[in-house]
Amino acid sequence: MSDVNIKHLYKVYPNGTKAVNDFDMQIADKEFIVFVGPSGCGKSTTLRMIAGLEDISAGELSIGGLVVNDVEPKDRDIAMVFQNYALYPHMTVYENIAFGLRLRKLPKEEIHKKVTEAAEILGITEYLDKKPKEMSGGQRQRVALGRAIVREPKVMLLDEPLSNLDAKLRTQMRAEILKLHKKLNTTFIYVTHDQVEAMTMGTRIVVMKEGYVQQTDAPKNLYDYPVNKFVAGFIGTPQMNFFKVKLTRSGEEVEILFTGCGAKTKVPYACLRKADPDVFGGIEMWLGIRAEDLSVTEDGDGAAVKVKVSHIEELGSETLIYGNLDMSGEGPEGVIIRDDGSHPVKAGDVITAAVNGRKLHLFYTDTERTALPRIPLFGRLHCKIQNCALHIGQNVLPLPPALDCSDGECLVTVPTDAFTRDGELECEIISCEDAGGVKLAEIDAGGERLYAALPQYNGEKTLRLGIDLKRISVSTGEGTILPLPAVNRTDCKFVKRIQKTASGKGKKTVKSAVFGFQSGDAFFEVSNEISQKIFTALGIKKAFTAKLRLEYTPYGVAVARDGIAATVQKTLDYGAEKFLACEAGENTVYVKTEENYSGKIYLMPDFGNISVVDTEREIKII
Ligand code: ADP
Repeated sequence: MSDVNIKHLYKVYPNGTKAVNDFDMQIADKEFIVFVGPSGCGKSTTLRMIAGLEDISAGELSIGGLVVNDVEPKDRDIAMVFQNYALYPHMTVYENIAFGLRLRKLPKEEIHKKVTEAAEILGITEYLDKKPKEMSGGQRQRVALGRAIVREPKVMLLDEPLSNLDAKLRTQMRAEILKLHKKLNTTFIYVTHDQVEAMTMGTRIVVMKEGYVQQTDAPKNLYDYPVNKFVAGFIGTPQMNFFKVKLTRSGEEVEILFTGCGAKTKVPYACLRKADPDVFGGIEMWLGIRAEDLSVTEDGDGAAVKVKVSHIEELGSETLIYGNLDMSGEGPEGVIIRDDGSHPVKAGDVITAAVNGRKLHLFYTDTERTALPRIPLFGRLHCKIQNCALHIGQNVLPLPPALDCSDGECLVTVPTDAFTRDGELECEIISCEDAGGVKLAEIDAGGERLYAALPQYNGEKTLRLGIDLKRISVSTGEGTILPLPAVNRTDCKFVKRIQKTASGKGKKTVKSAVFGFQSGDAFFEVSNEISQKIFTALGIKKAFTAKLRLEYTPYGVAVARDGIAATVQKTLDYGAEKFLACEAGENTVYVKTEENYSGKIYLMPDFGNISVVDTEREIKII
């Protein structure tokens, strides 16, 4: 198996540059993965860490099930192809391909067999006796590929292998590399800054920016469901159009106001049903529309905008119309329309462009994250609380003591993935789609519409759904009860302690060092494995001075005889489950409990299931 498992990988260069942050993904055997992003985003560094050419600052890397953090590049079962193919100029193509095998002292006949096979696969058999300088760029890159494939690696790593070639050759070589991938049946990881290359080659693509993974997805999903404005703008040519807008909903219609020029249009609310409900409150948003989702029309009745045309690009099969929503032709509302060329449009014209409301994208202006995701994060229910029960239409859901509220109107926020199949909420299933492996149902619960990710769905018209009540928030006139936090945080330091033990016949005192985490007065000795990870990530000196944070879930900690000193503040009773909310130093820690506790207690996190964060750099070390 040649799967590559990358767990929370970080790279901090000695000069402090955080080149890669929390890179986390599983690459399946035989996948073709592309890392793409603008120059300097960390894609080569990630690839070089996989190759073993760069040390890993934190995180774990395994290839074929073996952790290889400390394994030499030559022993990793990988082969790498670079942009500059670095062939030996004085050697023939044959010798270049055979070179690595000779170093490994393979028998002559075996070398010959491998070289001729590779040459055949790559179509360079007739060049085997030539020197690199007699060959074209494309042929030289084939030789470099040949040198890699004779090693029969588990994983092929390719770093911008085609960027030295001209556009036509690049397209041809892309197709050849894809064929090679099929033939070799191994895992390929390919780095490029060219989004077209990424889109045409990857089974999955990792889009990176400034050291962070933005989105990992299949090409079509990246195009249709970008998670933020960066991915939306980076993927696709011409670039997606972006406009600053404000949205106002009236019933089944949403008015879009383009704030830069004052233009307005309307789209059916059905097009924006998955949007965060807060976006209709008049906040400024980024609206994204791809060029092909605007079309020249004579009919201005539907969702449409007026465009002042500035110039036109005839591309043969299509026409790109450039213009502005501002009739002065100036201003920030520039727009590109992809037209089939059937409309006689010229510079200076004012045309009407129909907007495909079903393909709109919305992004928050501050975080630039999507507000119209493929799977909505949450939905809202307007309901009543009466006698400690939620009334949603005809449904009555008893509220547990942890959500005890006075009678009155309330707004309940329910995460889309907080629904269960066994419950009391009678729901009509309006529709159900497969959203990247998730069964996403639009449901009607007592007249309220929202989305639910269903654990399973067999075409039922109605379902009785449950809601994980510790994940909802309830807002009433008196305030908001927030969900139970998913993670606890405890500040700590990594320390060394000297232990004295009596040993041997004479009961001599022997000193030994133990390592662990210190939080307040509590000391937790840790395993060698954890200590090693801390030293690897922080270095010997920094390990003992860095401010660290332990992170663990309410299920990953228990009340114990010793540990973190805490004071129980209250018990949150959700019916089926109970949790203690405890004050522990500056932190509040939530603990799953079966028993009742009060006053001072001690908490013991489960160190087999914990994360450790270097707070200065916000790096997850473990
Ligand atoms: P990409 O391959 O996406 O162009 P790189 O992985 O080469 O990006 O670089 C990521 C970041 O790390 C950049 O800011 C780059 O300047 C920095 N970097 C790369 N190599 C080193 C190095 N040896 N020392 C310090 N910083 C480096």
